[in-house]
Amino acid sequence: MRIDSNNIKCFGCSACSQKCPKKCIEMVLNSEGFLYPIIDESECIDCGMCQSVCPIDKGYDSSRSKCYAAYSKDNSLIENSSSGGLFKELAETVLQKEGMVYGAAFDNQLCLKHFSVENRDEIQRFIGSKYVQSDINETYISVKKNLKYGRDVLFCGTPCQIHGLKLFLKKDYDNLVLVDLVCHGVPSPKIFKDYINNIEKKKHIKIMDFKFRKKNKFGECYGFEYSGKKKNKIISNCSMGAFTPYGVGFFQGLCMRKSCYQCPYSSIKRSSDITLGDYWGIKKIHSQFANICGTSLILVNTVKGEKAISEIKSKINFIVSDINRAKKFNHNLQKATIEPLQRKEFFQDYSKYGYVHVENKYLKSFKIQLWHFRSWLGQIIRSILGK
Ligand SMILES: Cc1cc2nc3c(=O)[nH]c(=O)nc-3n(C[C@H](O)[C@H](O)[C@H](O)COP(=O)(O)OP(=O)(O)OC[C@H]3O[C@@H](n4cnc5c(N)ncnc54)[C@H](O)[C@@H]3O)c2cc1C
Repeated sequence: MRIDSNNIKCFGCSACSQKCPKKCIEMVLNSEGFLYPIIDESECIDCGMCQSVCPIDKGYDSSRSKCYAAYSKDNSLIENSSSGGLFKELAETVLQKEGMVYGAAFDNQLCLKHFSVENRDEIQRFIGSKYVQSDINETYISVKKNLKYGRDVLFCGTPCQIHGLKLFLKKDYDNLVLVDLVCHGVPSPKIFKDYINNIEKKKHIKIMDFKFRKKNKFGECYGFEYSGKKKNKIISNCSMGAFTPYGVGFFQGLCMRKSCYQCPYSSIKRSSDITLGDYWGIKKIHSQFANICGTSLILVNTVKGEKAISEIKSKINFIVSDINRAKKFNHNLQKATIEPLQRKEFFQDYSKYGYVHVENKYLKSFKIQLWHFRSWLGQIIRSILGK
């Protein structure tokens, strides 16, 4: 039995393509801009390897020991990270042991890809959430090779990418730590690229970097900031993410991968060693502990995860928390993002008329902007009142 290339539950993790002994499965962009596996039937020997590593409808064990609220003791790290800077603290511990860290970073064309790094300076590329699906590349093959050499490895990605890697490896390794994220869903890389190209055209700028979680002093943490070259000068521009067309698409869940709307990992049941997320509601649950600049939610899912967290305890502030209370404030720990009614029409129009048309029609409407403005204002007022 082989994988079904048209399965809408496909996460695009590419475990199948990396496992195929005949190398006859290619990951190809569909019209929505997501990678799906295409099998070269003339080469396929029906060995079933692709099916055996595919995470669709495969169960997994999850035995949780602890839940923490935490943030790094390094303030500048918190400022640059999405929440409390936990990822970097975990990653540095692995690098100190001459290990490898895998994560998602933009290449010089602003395409998000998974890479590995071996030294501290390079980790900077991974810091911060990027709200676009990353191309996993051939990192599963590389992870397996490094584990076999006996190197310590930390791999961070979305829960489906982590489950795909686990199935690809087939067995547990003592020298591997798997970190997944609480995930709202991943938007289309093609829509992101078109959004960037559109700004470049309108503003006569060459965009070289993009941040999705620029923080400000009010604790607002969704500044979308681009920086780039304009007439040989480096300039940058930061706007409230929710007011930007791309932000509207992301927060409304309009341009997510189809599998995200039925994501089986949108729960506290996880296949990783550690799960990281934003600790929404921290001011209501642990008001004395909350860090205005960002606090992470940590779910420790395995003994290996507990060991990795214990190794960074001197570098972080943390308290034991209650997952059942925390998950009430974190929608994607309870259920998958709901598919908006307009999604189908959005992508039909996108295929037919192109990006500029859908941006004007779906991502800029006055009603949407007003709704986002009200929720942003509420957040600012709450943070000023300290609630
Ligand atoms: C698409 C997406 C949706 C998210 N949705 C939620 C949510 O609904 N609720 C919530 O609590 N938290 C969500 N998060 C997680 C949250 O934003 C933080 O990433 C997390 O709290 C870790 O923060 P940090 O400060 O420890 O580290 P950070 O420095 O923010 O961590 C960065 C790590 O995330 C990895 N990463 C970044 N972007 C991607 C990507 N697109 N695909 C795979 N890996 C990536 C990097 O490689 C790096 O390893 C989401 C993250 C992403 C990428």
